[in-house]
Amino acid sequence: MSNQEINFESTESFARKMDELDSLKRFRDKFYIPKQESGEDVLYFTGNSLGLQPKTVREYIEQELKDWEIFGVEGHFHAKSAWMPYHEFLTKPMANVVGAKEIETVVMNSLTVNLHLLMVSFYRPNGKRNKIVIEKNAFPSDQYAVKSQIDFHNVLSPAFRRQEDEQHFGQNINEKPPEGGTQNALIELAPREGETILRIEDIEKTLRENGDEIALVLLGGVNYYTGQAFDMKRITEIGHEIGAVVGFDLAHAAGNLELHLHDWNVDFAAWCSYKYLNSGPGGIAGVFVHERHAQNFDLPRFAGWWGHDKETRFLMDDKFVPMRGAEGWQLSNPPIFQMASLRASLEIFEEAGMKNLREKSVKLTNYLEFLLNEIKDERIEVITPVNPSERGCQLSIRVKNSDKNLFNAITENGVIADWREPDVIRVAPVPLYNTFSDVYKFMEILKNSLQSAN
Ligand SMILES: *Cc1c(COP(=O)(O)O)cnc(C)c1O
Repeated sequence: MSNQEINFESTESFARKMDELDSLKRFRDKFYIPKQESGEDVLYFTGNSLGLQPKTVREYIEQELKDWEIFGVEGHFHAKSAWMPYHEFLTKPMANVVGAKEIETVVMNSLTVNLHLLMVSFYRPNGKRNKIVIEKNAFPSDQYAVKSQIDFHNVLSPAFRRQEDEQHFGQNINEKPPEGGTQNALIELAPREGETILRIEDIEKTLRENGDEIALVLLGGVNYYTGQAFDMKRITEIGHEIGAVVGFDLAHAAGNLELHLHDWNVDFAAWCSYKYLNSGPGGIAGVFVHERHAQNFDLPRFAGWWGHDKETRFLMDDKFVPMRGAEGWQLSNPPIFQMASLRASLEIFEEAGMKNLREKSVKLTNYLEFLLNEIKDERIEVITPVNPSERGCQLSIRVKNSDKNLFNAITENGVIADWREPDVIRVAPVPLYNTFSDVYKFMEILKNSLQSAN
């Protein structure tokens, strides 16, 4: 049943029929769905903010508590899943989620920390080529991270540049450091006047016009606010053509879109795992570093013992010898409980498969869009792109006159969605645990709330 063949209907029986035909329907039962006071399931549409808890998480964490109880420090070797190599158990399933090779993938730290660590290695301002391209409305943490990196590099730039830089990057290191501080080294991509999403031709134009000044392009794979998914393959191509490094923040893309980071030739990427990847609040994050950088030990990096060659890590030598690939960016011995929780969730992704999830996701979100259009109320407008290949599961609904009352009304009726100032309700039907019936019920509540607000 391809999406084109579906004639959507705005009835509860149609939604139920879609649920019956859904080959992934059994997965909902693998998650705890929060309840309303009435005991009914809430209509949970914020898997883009915090994914729901897989029922297996408890068992995975309890195993580690038990092993700690029984073995103490010996758990590093004797736990059911030894702690010493524990992060390696997550590498393959995580690599599968983002279309990467194992050498390119590691789980460690949290997202913003990882963005910093990766910029230490991949933002190499050099003379005139010192700029970073981001989205004008990038998530605040990304903006802070990028701006503080620019400041950091400007402060240090004369001393930071070593002779070898010239060999790695073929650039002239004798040029003066850039003047004008943070602002001058930042290029922000903004939608056209009166538009809310970025056009790829405008992104291309900006990149080419500033081609010899751009050191790094760092965009979100999916914009957290508008839900727009970028053509990461094309942006990477253009970025490389102009001589820049290209990285992505995949917070809203990992576990949402089908990604092919290796094939797209992306230089690096980072993402959190508590959104679509259901690892729980503050869960451990993911990192991708393309294979072609795997043995580039001359890149500057902030080092720690867990990134040291594991064969000789415990010789405790004072000379840092990084591991090949993404693992070489690790700093500390990782949090086992957080990894246990993520492991439970990734097992579900392995079973469901990103391709299948995305296939259902497109239908589910198209259905949501269909129902929203059926309402025909000019007070609401979807600002997310209409083309399914330019979005993930989230639709961002703009409420005219910035009226939060509408959001409050749907919340009182059992919907968990999310309000973003000044005027947007984000709704993300997640293919692992949301149903067509959820979407239908949401639309009924929205319709009623709009009517009573009349
Ligand atoms: C969720 C999100 C973050 C959160 O960063 P943490 O370091 O995990 O707190 C950062 N950037 C983007 C784009 C996000 O969507």
